Amino acid sequence: MALMITDDCINCDVCEPECPNDAIYMGPEIYEIDPDKCTECVGHFSEPQCQQVCPVSCIPFNPERRETQDQLYEKFERLQAAKA
Ligand code: SF4
Ligand code: SF4
Repeated sequence: MALMITDDCINCDVCEPECPNDAIYMGPEIYEIDPDKCTECVGHFSEPQCQQVCPVSCIPFNPERRETQDQLYEKFERLQAAKA
């Protein structure tokens, strides 16, 4: 499942550099997460790094993007291949 940022975001900028997949970007008003790039940090870390650092806990799982661990790992592999 990808993660999402709610409108409780205070634009503190700390999550964006922590994302190993460059999935976090500044949207029109607050930070947003590209669900096609978010792997829940699978392949890189054991915990979602953005959730760990967000001071207002506004990064829940995105209920519209339910994915298995295998699907998340496949996404990680696709993203790595695209970088190469
Ligand atoms: S869970 Fe990981 S991959 Fe997804 S947005 Fe947060 S830091 Fe990036
Ligand atoms: S860490 Fe949380 S509050 Fe800060 S920019 Fe990211 S989502 Fe917004």
